[in-house]
Amino acid sequence: MTSAKNILRIAVPRPLYSLLDYHCPNELDVQIGCRVRVPLGRSISVGIVVEITDSSAFKKLRSIQKVFDKTPLFDQSSLKLLHWASRYYHSPIGHVIFNALPTPLRKGRALPLMTVWKINGAELDQADKRLGRAPKQRLLWEFLLKFASDEWLTELQLKQVLEDNGISSWRSLLNELKKKQLVIDQQVAAKFSASPILSTIDKVIVLTQEQQDVLEQLTRIYQSKKIKPILLHGITGSGKTEIYLRTIEPILASGKQALILVPEIGLTPQLFRRFQCYFPQYSVAKLHSALSDGERTLIWQAVKNNEITIVIGTRSAVFSPLENLGIIIVDEEHDNSFKQQKGFRYHGRDLAVKRAYDLNIPIILGSATPALASLQNVERDRYHYLRLNSRPGKRTRPDVLVQDICNIELEAGISPFLFTEIQQHLEAENQVMLFLNRRGFAPVLYCPHCGWHAICQACDVNMTYHAGVRKIICHHCEREEHIGLHCPDCHHSDITTLGQGTERVEHVLQAHFPDTLVIRIDRDTTNRKGALDSKLEIVQQGKPVILVGTQMLTKGHDFPKLTLVGILNIDQALFSMDYRAQEELAQQIVQVSGRAGRGESKGRVLLQTSQPKHPLLLNLLSNGYLNIAKQLLSERQRWNYPPFGFQVLIRATATDKTNGLDFLQQLSNDLSTQDLHAMGVSLLGPISSPLEKKANRYRFQLLMSSTDRIALHRLLSQAMVKLQVYKKLGSIRWSVDVDPLNML
Ligand code: ADP
Ligand code: ZN
Ligand code: ZN
Repeated sequence: MTSAKNILRIAVPRPLYSLLDYHCPNELDVQIGCRVRVPLGRSISVGIVVEITDSSAFKKLRSIQKVFDKTPLFDQSSLKLLHWASRYYHSPIGHVIFNALPTPLRKGRALPLMTVWKINGAELDQADKRLGRAPKQRLLWEFLLKFASDEWLTELQLKQVLEDNGISSWRSLLNELKKKQLVIDQQVAAKFSASPILSTIDKVIVLTQEQQDVLEQLTRIYQSKKIKPILLHGITGSGKTEIYLRTIEPILASGKQALILVPEIGLTPQLFRRFQCYFPQYSVAKLHSALSDGERTLIWQAVKNNEITIVIGTRSAVFSPLENLGIIIVDEEHDNSFKQQKGFRYHGRDLAVKRAYDLNIPIILGSATPALASLQNVERDRYHYLRLNSRPGKRTRPDVLVQDICNIELEAGISPFLFTEIQQHLEAENQVMLFLNRRGFAPVLYCPHCGWHAICQACDVNMTYHAGVRKIICHHCEREEHIGLHCPDCHHSDITTLGQGTERVEHVLQAHFPDTLVIRIDRDTTNRKGALDSKLEIVQQGKPVILVGTQMLTKGHDFPKLTLVGILNIDQALFSMDYRAQEELAQQIVQVSGRAGRGESKGRVLLQTSQPKHPLLLNLLSNGYLNIAKQLLSERQRWNYPPFGFQVLIRATATDKTNGLDFLQQLSNDLSTQDLHAMGVSLLGPISSPLEKKANRYRFQLLMSSTDRIALHRLLSQAMVKLQVYKKLGSIRWSVDVDPLNML
């Protein structure tokens, strides 16, 4: 470092909205993106160098004490993105940057070593005897013999391949093999290379004319000087993944890396395998929330060291330290799980667009049901728009049938007609899927004798009955209670339920179809690690099964034998007060329907509703998603709702009912001392949040909106200054949500 530039601007893990200036002593050598030790108040802290400059507004600067890293942990472009995100979302810079680091690296600790494994060549002839009758050990040993005779395999590689193939206890098996001296291990600095692949895809896919055209257009777009994002609107099953693979191929060949962002539960082994099989020469890594700290750290390091070519990950992967990034894909870009709903409330898709823009690299946003905001960006000529309108081969779109359930007796929400249909599809050796957006057995548990209801005391809402565990659970605060066979108030035994959730649907179906496997997929059945993957694997095998589930089922899955989809209850969403509900409902119907008929046989969708004439349904089914989207957009325009206007939601919660309200009222009063109208900004509230009480805290909100984003952010900056002062007033917690996706 030159002596002229010895001022470091550093982020520390504290709720501070700006960087802190420090002096760098001459003897220390430091670069942007490195961790350092700094004095902070009366203690010390780890900090990350974000800028190096030659001047500071402060006279007396303290000096950094130590540099932890010889080479930076962050490259300049991801640091720039984080810095930008912290300003845009008005989140403390230190929190934003430290959050992007794997937990073990947030302290000053050195980058960890990793274990690699190899066959012990010296003991090869002893193997048969020592393996004896231990079939699992033998299987693993044979696997290693094939792939790890000459080369060391990392635990990550082993894990990915073995777990995908159902060997979950590989670690203890490895240790057994080590005890028998059949394998050896050693500790090395993190490295990562392509995982060995057990099965390759044998069929070579020939692109359809339509796919070919889209691919050519994509290539043309990428050769332009200033690259705009591409919205790829392809109907379900049109082969978007195939387009992704072929588009990134030449980019990888030129030595660059690719980042694939997928919704939280879209990261299936199936998708991962498709990338692995298509690119056996490159290393592919998964980044998602279920990784352990250790795994995350290793992958993170390997990504940074350019040992990983393709990262497939959920929203936070947008911050991965890919120093040589050449393309970003956001699959199912409309999905709300790209938005983080607590703490640092960022939108992964929007940040991906920003990152691609900064680097001037291509980004493809793919969906069968693009977000209204993305369609509006096409309208404004900010995005290119490409379309895939058909399913390859003989596959066609499923027929959608609306079934009026007024005056029809239902069993667990299923009409007799739907039961018959299920029967027929199972008899034809096909699979069936029923979709219901409510987990648990029943949303209401009550006593007809005394009127007792299961209510959560902490949230004042109904608790959901979960029959399997005999509990009532609050879906808002997770509070749960055991429930006996008798009413807790009058002790009568007639205690009963109202309505249904997935658990009840599963029970009733299993009783109706005792010889068919019923698989329930919702948060309750999949929270154990690997549970979802193994359930999906069973469906993948193609035997006739019935799937019952929540929106977890809607995303991306490709089940060729699935021919019937039943949508049980959408009426609530049709009448929701939230202006976003209709967009989400349209997306959900199209996405769920799209699971049907992806194989040889035609698919069929049965949509049960008591509102068969609802304009949204009629329009969606006769004119398609794009038409609905246009209509919803024009409604939003009329009200200046997003994407035409911009919003910021400030939430406050407190254990005392008036405290939270007063807190936001004070903010509203203080901001209103200026002419908000002239500034082009409006304030709505404070009002109670739609979920008024949660976990014993009363919740209030103040909505700021404007058609002028800059004006809105200017006002928000003022609000931030005030909020930090008010904060000293009591037990109040507040948060700021820029571009909120819901008002809850
Ligand atoms: P999407 O992501 O658009 O829903 P997928 O990429 O999952 O669709 O493709 C659906 C199915 O169609 C996959 O099984 C895929 O292998 C297959 N497929 C895609 N393109 C072709 C093609 N040109 N010829 C034959 N099969 C194809
Ligand atoms: Zn009772
Ligand atoms: Zn509760």
